[in-house]
Amino acid sequence: MGQSELIEIRDLTKHFPASRGAVVRAVDGVTFSIRRGETLGLVGESGCGKTTIGRCLLRLIEPTSGAISFDNRDLLALGRGELRRLRRRMQIIFQDPYSSLNPRMKVGAIIGEPLSIHESLTRQQRRDRVAELLTLVGLAPDYANRYPHEFSGGQRQRIGIARAIALKPDFIVADEPVSALDVSVQAQIVNLMQDLQSQFGLTYLFISHGLAVVEHISTRVGVMYLGKLVELAPAAEIYSNPLHPYTQALLAASPAPDPDAARAQKAARVRLAGDAPTPLNPPSGCRFHTRCPAAIEACRKEEPPLVEVSPGHWAACLLHPAGVESPAATVRSSNNT
Ligand code: SF4
Repeated sequence: MGQSELIEIRDLTKHFPASRGAVVRAVDGVTFSIRRGETLGLVGESGCGKTTIGRCLLRLIEPTSGAISFDNRDLLALGRGELRRLRRRMQIIFQDPYSSLNPRMKVGAIIGEPLSIHESLTRQQRRDRVAELLTLVGLAPDYANRYPHEFSGGQRQRIGIARAIALKPDFIVADEPVSALDVSVQAQIVNLMQDLQSQFGLTYLFISHGLAVVEHISTRVGVMYLGKLVELAPAAEIYSNPLHPYTQALLAASPAPDPDAARAQKAARVRLAGDAPTPLNPPSGCRFHTRCPAAIEACRKEEPPLVEVSPGHWAACLLHPAGVESPAATVRSSNNT
């Protein structure tokens, strides 16, 4: 694991038992790392395993197999006490700002809760810290005395963010943090997260079902399909030169806020047909072959490995072998010379 990597996940698998001895293969052999100070956007339809990865990373659920290291420490080997100490460095922002805040607790108690558990502060020190956190997320300090129902969705998510940064963590899993919010409010929350990231050097795993939401916050983007990571690349690259037909389909389905994305959409010929198959019984070979318009006979039998197609750009598709640039990438690089 390099110095720049905060988190490394190797061959992570999480299977859930289902009825009659069946198994839901929620995450099936996923490998990637998250660098210090970056935002890794993790994208895919519901049921693709992205939220399960976020929860495994924080050990809110235990993986079936694989390895996770955090700051060069084997996260899965930690005992309870060590895990508790490390947990303060890893926090989560939940999708639903309505259900993630206890309606019977005042905002001050909600934000101060992690401080009560992990730090020995006097009441006044805790109050001061809560006031400071409220200000940091753009809310008035006296909101500490109010209840969650008195706030809008965006304000509640700001409260959730204040709680997440209370212990000055290094890493935050943001699990669809803006999906439940109005579009007009989404950008404000994303901007707030970016400001806090540059202020405190935070590292984010930003989980989203759509590519448009993560475009401006992500350093790199990973795309998941049915428990597998199918593409991983720097954000600018994935929006301008998506290699995997599934990424192309997601991009075609996203609104295009800027000309680059609009160009990529125009280029994308792929449209997603039907629902994703169930992770209870994923298709053989490439799991995307049942919906992929580019599928060839081999796709039914051969499972494509995730390979580095061009520097930093990984894809799992038989049409893109390792080290062979796609025609689009070749055209772009020759234009740059
Ligand atoms: Fe489509 Fe085949 Fe590539 Fe899978 S391996 S994405 S089915 S072309």
